[in-house]
Amino acid sequence: MLKVNLPDGSVREFSEPVTPLDVAQDIGPGLAKAAVAAAIDGKVVGLDTSLPQVGVVSLQLLTKRDAESLGVMRHSCAHIMARAVMRLFDDVQLAFGPTIENGFYYDFELPHALSDEDFEAIEKEMAKIIELDEPFERLEQTRDESVSICRDLAQPLKVEHIETGLAEDDVLSFYRQGEFLDLCRGPHVRSAKVIGRAFKLLSVAGAYWKGDNTRQQLQRVYATAFWDKADLKEYIQRVEEAKKRDHRVLGKQLDLFTIDPMVGSGLILWMPKGATVRATLEGFVREELTRRGYQPVNTPHIGRIELYETSGHYPYYSDSQFAPIEMEKDERYLLKPMNCPHHIKIYQARPRSYRDLPLRLAEFGTVYRNEKSGELSGMTRVRGFTQDDAHIFCTEEQVAEEFRGCIEMTQEVLRAVGMKDYRVRLGFRDPQSDKYVGSEASWDRAEAALVEVCESLGLEAEAEAGEAAFYGPKADFVVTDCIGREWQLGTVQLDYNLPSEERFGLEYIGADNQPHRPVMIHRAPLGSMERFIGVLIEHFEGAFPLWLAPEQVRVCTVSEKSEEYGRRVEQQLFAKGMRVTGDYRPEKLGAKIRDSQLQKIPYTIVVGPKDEAADTVSVRDRIDGEQETLSLLDAIAKFEAEISERRVRQVAEGSLGLGDGRRSNEY
Ligand SMILES: [Zn+2]
Ligand SMILES: [Zn+2]
Repeated sequence: MLKVNLPDGSVREFSEPVTPLDVAQDIGPGLAKAAVAAAIDGKVVGLDTSLPQVGVVSLQLLTKRDAESLGVMRHSCAHIMARAVMRLFDDVQLAFGPTIENGFYYDFELPHALSDEDFEAIEKEMAKIIELDEPFERLEQTRDESVSICRDLAQPLKVEHIETGLAEDDVLSFYRQGEFLDLCRGPHVRSAKVIGRAFKLLSVAGAYWKGDNTRQQLQRVYATAFWDKADLKEYIQRVEEAKKRDHRVLGKQLDLFTIDPMVGSGLILWMPKGATVRATLEGFVREELTRRGYQPVNTPHIGRIELYETSGHYPYYSDSQFAPIEMEKDERYLLKPMNCPHHIKIYQARPRSYRDLPLRLAEFGTVYRNEKSGELSGMTRVRGFTQDDAHIFCTEEQVAEEFRGCIEMTQEVLRAVGMKDYRVRLGFRDPQSDKYVGSEASWDRAEAALVEVCESLGLEAEAEAGEAAFYGPKADFVVTDCIGREWQLGTVQLDYNLPSEERFGLEYIGADNQPHRPVMIHRAPLGSMERFIGVLIEHFEGAFPLWLAPEQVRVCTVSEKSEEYGRRVEQQLFAKGMRVTGDYRPEKLGAKIRDSQLQKIPYTIVVGPKDEAADTVSVRDRIDGEQETLSLLDAIAKFEAEISERRVRQVAEGSLGLGDGRRSNEY
């Protein structure tokens, strides 16, 4: 006898062997028709899975309304895509075909170089296969049988995977759909028609077999599928919008940064314009730091390996670090993966008393991480980056106030760049686990302080148990950009580990004349300059607000007659500290204005003979194309006001919901 608990609290009993589909039919034909997959005790399975014949299980029948169903359908669609590719091209070898955040891909090895010109034919073939509505059938095989099946299918990559990646599994599963047979865990939908017609191939890219760059390169076809065409259409629009904003494209077009293979991948070369944006942003952050009682420090880019052995960053994080630099006689250096140990040594450079605390040490510190080459992307995934880093050393009693300061500063910085849509993710400890350092009482106090601070600042904050690092609770800012993508940027993390006896043994002398242990806070409101500016480029679509724009104003002359006046105007703006250029070419005015627009320069000043006579300028606004005639002094005052208020005028509102899927940002 099997007892099946259903989500509505009802229980059904079966004495015959049953599948989730049988249970659905038992409940009603409507549900049996609507069910896409099932979850047995929380594990997603196909509808044809055999339920145990005795005992108790919880069963949930998943319909299109359940998010898990979409993944099942998309992976089924990946099989259909692979089947279509094998029908259309010769010698196709299959690698992996998983679902990803907004769709799925399949990696193929084949002589033909796939391109988007092939997409239509593949999609047509997929539609034909779906129309036949053949079932997805699961077969289970022993390892040996599985290897021989994959050999018979001439699929050496699958053979290799069974022999290496799946060496622990005694029984493996395959799914058959018509002539297509693939090694696969599943689950799948019942038959092809469940997939529907709302699927689309998106792009093709190179990918190494098992992500290993010493192995052969495969062709990865990205695609997506939705339950209905309206969702697919909306998704495609979002992808197009994101493409238009791609910081890698805009960064090149607007001369902001470059990456040169001879320098190395993942290493950003900031062009003058990009460096200007960065310097302006840094200047703003420096002002905030000074105002908030931080003191600047500077530290080198390398440190002896012993420093990182003490901090625990080596060898613990060594697979994400560059290999040590070997010097003579046991002297080894590491490119610094973190600034914290250096700042700790500044703290320890002299005895500290409670009067020194809180001590806030700030540095735009460049760190290096050896990210896998396949994961590098423009400025958002890099190997060298500069954190707007600081470390606060304080007493237990000061933690809440310091948290407040850090969170307020992050809010201030985000406000200045027009990012209004964000939430705070609080990473707390898992009360069941004992992996954490620091006393339970300290954790309780710190977690309560974090919640309290967020509440009092009116911040949307969600606490996630088990998301803290072992060394302390944290608050991560998750920012939604103007096309709805989420980015994890700033972070504030408490640390009970580095100050501890086992690490650096930090101390201060208290009012009682006794040594005490300070708490350490790591915080970076922007995260890294590279990533933050990469996100900003996309957020603003390259059109920075006036205060950040690398070129704020361009002076264009109506004709050569006004060049002298134009240069005088330019000179006066320059004298006021504005980033201004002049276009005095003998071109048509329209062409000059268009160039200025394409460069996304916030204001274009047009001057002609009448302006010269009246000491006026005509100011053209990039955002709305409005033109107004102002005296030169009024124009300067207008720009100065907009700059000093750090006004952000051009960000479109709206939320479309793409994500970058990146989470961890631990120190
Ligand atoms: Zn599969
Ligand atoms: Zn740190």
